[in-house]
Amino acid sequence: MKEVVITKPHEYAVREVPLPGITNDFEVLVQMKAVGICGSDHHIYHGANPCSTYPRIPGHENVGIVVKVGPKVTKVNIGDRVVIDLIITCGECYQCKIGRENVCENVRVRGSGTDGGLREYIVVPEEDAYVFPETIPFRDAALIEPYAIGAHCTQRGRLVAEDIVFILGTGTIGSIILQTCKEKGCTVICCDVNDETLARAKGYGADYIINSKKENIVARVQEITRGKGVTVAFDSACFQGSLTSLFEVGLVRNAGRIVSLGFVTAPETISQAMLNQRELDLIGSRMSCYQFKPTIEKFARHAFNLNGIATTFIPFNEIEKMFYYMDHPDPKVKKMVVLFE
Ligand SMILES: [Zn+2]
Ligand SMILES: [Zn+2]
Repeated sequence: MKEVVITKPHEYAVREVPLPGITNDFEVLVQMKAVGICGSDHHIYHGANPCSTYPRIPGHENVGIVVKVGPKVTKVNIGDRVVIDLIITCGECYQCKIGRENVCENVRVRGSGTDGGLREYIVVPEEDAYVFPETIPFRDAALIEPYAIGAHCTQRGRLVAEDIVFILGTGTIGSIILQTCKEKGCTVICCDVNDETLARAKGYGADYIINSKKENIVARVQEITRGKGVTVAFDSACFQGSLTSLFEVGLVRNAGRIVSLGFVTAPETISQAMLNQRELDLIGSRMSCYQFKPTIEKFARHAFNLNGIATTFIPFNEIEKMFYYMDHPDPKVKKMVVLFE
């Protein structure tokens, strides 16, 4: 089989290797069908992901079909279509025991800390393979993982239908959070610097859009919320200073929540007073936890508008095109999905 390896930052190789074998009774062999490519894959290729080591097979939004099962496998069958969990956990630590496995102290992530799915076959424990119905095409199923992130961060933010939500950044994850909020019945204000992605957000159900290059964010939010401010804000823009900007007085109301999704290592400038004067909750969010199965159910009943979330489909045997777009960013290529066959 073929596998794609990032050998070191900015270099990759396509290697011919033997098929991986099932090494314990509870594993399954999955023939890969689709892999979604996201920001962290770009970071691994560019050497900017602090969690990644090399050589590394990227790919954490992994979808395939089960072709072989270990002797004690009971939860999946040969022929099942599965999305593969990216998180490998210990099951023993404090976090695992309180249902926060995504931040397990021994967590390993397929596609960054350990090898991922950008190869023709992968072996995984049956526990990590979630079956989805045939009505969901592979190319759509590659989006289940990012929508699981949307489900997770909105759960972290304790969202309810009455919330008025502000989303900074309407790229892929911002658009997914928007759809997740709308599915819960919230009112959503989307903010970005790009009219085109804001128009897309409108199409996905944004109630209000703000172009922060042309309009003052706080003034517009005050106008929309009749001087109250929003109840929850998400930072899906994730640049240095983006988190601090959500603390501006007038944006989030007293007792509101701010959910952060970024991994910028440069410090923000948040004072104790900015947090405590209004008793805000600042909430961290990483990947997802127990969200694959509910997200599959939502995909099966077409709860989301997947149109235009993945913008670019790359055949696995033309993988050089994926790396070309990583080296030559194109605003039209917002999210790639690699398809096998
Ligand atoms: Zn991702
Ligand atoms: Zn653990």
